[in-house]
Amino acid sequence: MYTQGKCRSKCHGSLLITVIALTVTLIGLASQAIHASPVEMGWSTFITGPWEPAVTWPPEDSEVLGAGLVKGVLAKGTKHETPYYIYNSGVKGPTVVVIGGMHGNEKAGYMAAREIKDFTVKKGRLIVIPELNKPAVKAGKRTSSLGDMNRAFPRTKTDSPRNSLAKDIWNLMAKYRPEWLVDLHEGYDFHKINKKSVGQTVIYYPLPSAAPMASAMAKAASALVSNPKHAFTVLKYPVAGSLARAVSIRLGTKGMIVETSRKQKLSLRVAEHKAAVDAMLKKLGMR
Ligand SMILES: [Zn+2]
Repeated sequence: MYTQGKCRSKCHGSLLITVIALTVTLIGLASQAIHASPVEMGWSTFITGPWEPAVTWPPEDSEVLGAGLVKGVLAKGTKHETPYYIYNSGVKGPTVVVIGGMHGNEKAGYMAAREIKDFTVKKGRLIVIPELNKPAVKAGKRTSSLGDMNRAFPRTKTDSPRNSLAKDIWNLMAKYRPEWLVDLHEGYDFHKINKKSVGQTVIYYPLPSAAPMASAMAKAASALVSNPKHAFTVLKYPVAGSLARAVSIRLGTKGMIVETSRKQKLSLRVAEHKAAVDAMLKKLGMR
């Protein structure tokens, strides 16, 4: 039983041990900070956003590919296993996520994302999942046995991801709390010609500063086309269940979907996606 008398001697003893342990930890942390400058090494533990907890770098369970670049794996050991790449500049700044292959038949999206994963950034952190639904990408189909991945994410404040891959992706987003997310897709027509198609649009969720960012991305991608009817239109509200919408309503991440039109040459569509992402990174001072 707890008694006042026992505590006086015992608790003061444990308090002293706690104080000594804390002092040793603080001295250890201070000497680490002096000896291993994170910026110089390209590695760091830093807080990039208003919500983000400090993330240890390089992350656990990741493979170091080079200075600042690591590779991790989602849905490990399943047929949906797919890599993600994180380039950490080592300089404080925003975290940006780029997604390709959410729909496996939207080729320009994952082809652009495969190239974007090799981008380096001057500040903040770039996270790329080039082939989110790998079996769908391999089969060239919109969905896999998990169904439509862009309807598998939380739709409300209390909803959960709907399958194991979506859960892994959601955990990654919750860990890094990105400020921005761009998901690369394709539509079947030009939106300015056929309003039923979202081809050639940038679709954003209206959080602060998302609208001017979407406009800058649309402008950069539109600069690659000469026909004004092929220019990009800015639209609001990614569909319910999409990753772009889920991160917006749940994490405060500004989620965007870029849609190119499949009626163009593949090389142009890939270039449009890259131009949109590049415009975002430039506006954020990351490239
Ligand atoms: Zn799509």
